[in-house]
Amino acid sequence: MAVQDVASLRSAVEKAIRDTKVTDVHTHIYPPCFGDLLLWGVDDLITYHYLIAETFRWAELPYDAYWDLTTQQQADLIWKTLFEQNSPVAESCRGVLTVLHKLGLDVAARDLAAYRSYFSQLTPGEYVDIVFELAGVRDVVMTNDPFDEAERKVWLESYRPDPRFKAALRLDPLLNEWDANWQRLAAWGYSVDVGLSSRCITEVQRFLKYWCDRMEALYLAVSLPPTFAIAEDSSRALLIRECVLPVCAELNRPFAMMIGVKKLVNPGLRLAGDSVGKAAIEAVESLCAEYPRNKFLVTMLSRENQHELCVAARKFRNLLIFGCWWFLNNPSLVEEITRMRFELLGLGFIPQHSDARVLDQLIYKWEHSRRIIGAVLCEKYADLLSAGWRLEEDEIRRDVGTLLGGNFWDFIKRKL
Ligand SMILES: [Zn+2]
Repeated sequence: MAVQDVASLRSAVEKAIRDTKVTDVHTHIYPPCFGDLLLWGVDDLITYHYLIAETFRWAELPYDAYWDLTTQQQADLIWKTLFEQNSPVAESCRGVLTVLHKLGLDVAARDLAAYRSYFSQLTPGEYVDIVFELAGVRDVVMTNDPFDEAERKVWLESYRPDPRFKAALRLDPLLNEWDANWQRLAAWGYSVDVGLSSRCITEVQRFLKYWCDRMEALYLAVSLPPTFAIAEDSSRALLIRECVLPVCAELNRPFAMMIGVKKLVNPGLRLAGDSVGKAAIEAVESLCAEYPRNKFLVTMLSRENQHELCVAARKFRNLLIFGCWWFLNNPSLVEEITRMRFELLGLGFIPQHSDARVLDQLIYKWEHSRRIIGAVLCEKYADLLSAGWRLEEDEIRRDVGTLLGGNFWDFIKRKL
């Protein structure tokens, strides 16, 4: 049925956005078989590293004293600081409230003990079902690091597949810290050396293929500093060129690059101590140009990189840009970036990923993002109606499906 006016347009878009299940292309959550690696519940939610950084804007205790507290004591401190002594207007705090509200808990009561008691009656498996339903998420892609001993052990000994959780092979220790990690590969039976001999290159390729296969990884991924350059004289650049990209091409897997994180600008904050820097878009352009048979999924952390990243995606069909990452995942920036992407790329991008570290965050990240993506899409459709175009409701559903999962799966399957 054709939409007739702006009011029926708005309700058709809202319905399509609400009813379409999402594929969340990058998260840090796990199915319950990973045990404690799956973070969930109100204490994990409140001690999310975004809120830790914000708490230290106010709290006077030393960093080390915070890290010596139990998770529940940390949550008490954050709750008192960010929710009781100040109004929780920051996006990360608002997110906590959205989660509790959508779960049907009484947010106005400000009763942390009651929230804890709600979660204490659930098993992780039950809560996964609740969260996926409330968040409108069909499946998520995890971040899977074979260098993490706890995670590695699950993959090798007790992994039980859950079709809602897809894998991505994360390569930060291998690519960013080769000197510190090559001996671990050697201990696992790979004939490698710090100098990256040709024998070593073949062996690293064998390692990558083994883990891609073992995990059924949809893509290989790394986070990179703003200074990253593929022309750099480094073990990282060599490993990407000689190991990662040939394996990705052979197995038809994209290589995901998350560029712009400055690690530990404040080490005292630990996981909350990373920051952002503007990167050189030339690193992306030259990889896409030099490796036309490789597919690249790219997100960049700096707001200043967003326009040139959009332009790069116009130039290279082997580049698919995704999400509003970390410090960009705020309503004002998501709106600005999403609008620009529609204007430069039409429907050819992945508007958002959750980056959820705590299961519960799927609920708020998708609630907040859906609202903005829908509003901006509506604005763009309204412009088309003003130009005399006609829109059908099933075309709107098709387009929303393209944005919330279709583009990702098409890219995964596409052969170049
Ligand atoms: Zn992430």
